[in-house]
Amino acid sequence: MRKDRIERTKTVCTYCGVGCSFEVWTKDREILKIQPDPAAPANGVSTCVKGKFGWDFVNSEERLTTPLIRKGERFVEATWEEALSLMASKMTDIKETHGNDSIGFIASSKCSNEENYLFQKLARSVFGTNNIDNCSRYCQTPASTGLMRTVGIGGDAGTIEDIESSELVLVVGANPAESHPVLATRIKRANKLFNQKLIVFDLRENELAQRADLFISPKPGTDLVWLNAIAKYIIDKDWHDTDFIEKRVNNFEDFVDSLDTYTLDYAEDKTGLSKELLIKVATIIHEAKSMCALWAMGVTQHKGGTDTSTAISNLLLVTGNYGKPGTGGYPLRGHNNVQGASDFGTMPEWLPGYESIEDDKIRARYEEAWGTTLPKEPGYNNHEVVEAIQDGKVKAMYLFGEEMGLVDSNINYVHTAFEKLDFFVVQDIFFSKTAQFADVVLPAAPSLEKDGTFTNTERRIQRFHKALEPLGESKPDWEIFQNFANKLGANWNYKHPGEIMDEAAKLSPIFAGVSYSRLEGWNSQVWPVNKDGSDTPLLYEKEFGFEDGKARLFAVEWTPPYEPGEEYDLHLNNGRILEHFHEGNMTYRSEGISHKVPEPWLEVSPELASKRGIKTGALVRLKSPYGETEIRVWVTEQVKGKQLYFPMHSMEEKSAVNKLTSSYHDKDTHTPNYKEMDVKMEVI
Ligand code: SF4
Repeated sequence: MRKDRIERTKTVCTYCGVGCSFEVWTKDREILKIQPDPAAPANGVSTCVKGKFGWDFVNSEERLTTPLIRKGERFVEATWEEALSLMASKMTDIKETHGNDSIGFIASSKCSNEENYLFQKLARSVFGTNNIDNCSRYCQTPASTGLMRTVGIGGDAGTIEDIESSELVLVVGANPAESHPVLATRIKRANKLFNQKLIVFDLRENELAQRADLFISPKPGTDLVWLNAIAKYIIDKDWHDTDFIEKRVNNFEDFVDSLDTYTLDYAEDKTGLSKELLIKVATIIHEAKSMCALWAMGVTQHKGGTDTSTAISNLLLVTGNYGKPGTGGYPLRGHNNVQGASDFGTMPEWLPGYESIEDDKIRARYEEAWGTTLPKEPGYNNHEVVEAIQDGKVKAMYLFGEEMGLVDSNINYVHTAFEKLDFFVVQDIFFSKTAQFADVVLPAAPSLEKDGTFTNTERRIQRFHKALEPLGESKPDWEIFQNFANKLGANWNYKHPGEIMDEAAKLSPIFAGVSYSRLEGWNSQVWPVNKDGSDTPLLYEKEFGFEDGKARLFAVEWTPPYEPGEEYDLHLNNGRILEHFHEGNMTYRSEGISHKVPEPWLEVSPELASKRGIKTGALVRLKSPYGETEIRVWVTEQVKGKQLYFPMHSMEEKSAVNKLTSSYHDKDTHTPNYKEMDVKMEVI
């Protein structure tokens, strides 16, 4: 039935980890406007272009509105009963024939906490496997692991207000002006109005870099070297925080020994940065009373991504920059709910709240609550599951809200894995590239058509509310999981996502006091949340996340990145641009955005363009050992010399950057080395 009234519904943006919240004004299915509110915790009255204009996709004619089942080369419409029955019989067969671990589950960093909680419950308690992972494997797992090594908790140390109030913000390998725009605006304001100092290390002179007090561009893959060298210089000068280290940090002596190699001469040689510049940075850090360090995929998507993340946290510890307002480590979460998807247990080694699946006592708590026996061994992560499919160990996969067929690295190889699956279920709001490989495609509802919570980069849990009815026969993901689990005899009976959150809060200590009643209106809670509802915006004021309450300096060694070959002579960097999100399935279908930026482009330096006789608008072919793509050029001074910058947003396989990237990965977490790729370029 058509609604003629204007309705105002509080929601949370789904385009980045800042987690801006606002009201969406709707009339029937028409989206009239986005109305921010001063009471919104992460953004107040701000949004960026995606938050404001990126919602038309909900009414796209390309939305999936009914389940589809593969019949040979075609897909035919099916009822929910037919689709879920087929899934139940095929997946049960595969499990009985090949074992529980022959099925993989890929969760969604775009979907809600409750949906991720339920999906890991489905994998673990109904299918008996820990083969579950989410998109943080592609981006922020190295950062979380670096923090867990050093301070014991894998989340941001404080809030956006801490970043804003800090005397010094150090940004390493991140592009907040385009990837986290509202957060970047707050940094720009603090820099301009409150004398906050800003240092940006990056390959590309992005918008925030242009406004920084210091913009520094080291050789690719050498961040760990300058971080260690600055830590060493600070210690050698006796500028480290001895009182803080004595009282609150373990392993100082060993850490000092580990820095022997990292002299300024060594750093100058490896990074290409002058000793004077490194001393200048060390001096600014020393003189600042508080420092926040922000980093993202320019750090993590390397073969030493975890080690470099660790080195950032080490530098913060050495200088006493944890546990006080305006300090700490802040890996900037990319997806709206990459933090929450991991927090709520869609990882192979963690139950919700980062409790180890291998711990008998913790597992027993969940076994009792769920009335089942849980597998003890950690399962396959996103990278390993592709290898396991290639090796014939994983035969079926269930994936929701993730365009793995475009955003995983080396997608030609990933596609050959999809083709080997005996049974593949893809659940999404559009018929994605990944869905083309599926046997069953299920229509899901986007955030505006359901209730739930997301957790932003600050660890802040916020409610979003249903503004529209699900289109056609699409359903909220949590309802689909429940219906499927019940088809397999699970007897779940959640009537609302709030009941799922109640269960998670009962089982997981860090969510003990989270409840929908406490998240009413503009209220939010930053985990860990105590039973009485009090939360923890700033971590480590009293103790770090280890049993003895002390932090640990963790020695890390640099290993050189891959050197450009003679044939592949250009370095390919990649990432986001302001207007689009991820593969673009939502933003390209939102007219206000796609009209402005209808396709991605390749940034080429004026120097390189002139050498090759290329002008803006030229169509070029890029080739790597793994594949080739075609894309138009934009000549810009944002990139220098032989650096190329390729936005990751392409729904078209022929211009997808991940046809070029390799399967090499961070040695500690298996996060792909998206940022270590050399290519050659020819004009078409
Ligand atoms: Fe806010 Fe990020 Fe959404 Fe922009 S994309 S409105 S910064 S949450």
